[in-house]
Amino acid sequence: MKGSKKIIIAIDGFSSTGKSTIAKELAKKLGYLYVDTGAMYRTVTFYAMEKGYVARDFLFEDGLIESLPQINLKFKYNDKLTPNNVEAEMYLNDRNVENEIRTIEVSRLVSKVSAISAVRKKLVEQQQKMGIDKGLVMDGRDIGTVVFPDAELKLFMTASPEKRATRRYKELLDKGHKINYQEVLENVQQRDLIDSTRKDSPLIKADDAIEFDNSDMGLKVQFERVHSIAMQRITSLRNI
Ligand code: C5P
Repeated sequence: MKGSKKIIIAIDGFSSTGKSTIAKELAKKLGYLYVDTGAMYRTVTFYAMEKGYVARDFLFEDGLIESLPQINLKFKYNDKLTPNNVEAEMYLNDRNVENEIRTIEVSRLVSKVSAISAVRKKLVEQQQKMGIDKGLVMDGRDIGTVVFPDAELKLFMTASPEKRATRRYKELLDKGHKINYQEVLENVQQRDLIDSTRKDSPLIKADDAIEFDNSDMGLKVQFERVHSIAMQRITSLRNI
């Protein structure tokens, strides 16, 4: 890959479609930086929960907006553990919150917080700065439409809600969370609905994104296809 032109790869799609697994693998293989933007929205949500700005039946939007300057988000990449800046942990005001942001309670509230325009503005600015040198794989909901509308490669991942909930349920069980399948399915469907219907930056497929329905596709096959598409794009740009 040395000497080739670096590009931005935007991976968007519905909840639990395996975006981050594919994005991480791809970044590793290409020697690119990987950024999980969902972690950023989850961290702002966790902050809002701790401050009492958001709960299941409550949102103090003005309070959160006023506090935004006090929220400092950082990914810390540990190059010694995982070369290529692939495995990052999320820090909120210098505190590691990587585990706290993955709970079902954060998942329940995150779409509510992500619909606030001032929150999106702050995070999108930070995300765009991470792409200045290109060589980036970023996953989220609005990467190909809003954050990097000129990204050289855009992918849009979908799968049936049941397949996605099953994957997420297994993942959470493996991590030791106490949860039942129905709760996970409801959360996945609820988040998709809020994310797709919000006014600011709704989850939609960019016109020029390549769609991947991975309901019946194994990870290995999926990764091979995505990698081959990325290599074709990188090679075609090198020849321009
Ligand atoms: O990717 P993940 O499932 O961790 O994202 C959590 C939530 O963060 C999404 O359901 C969505 O509400 C929000 N999000 C967003 N825009 C992004 C990434 C995530 O609104 N670019």
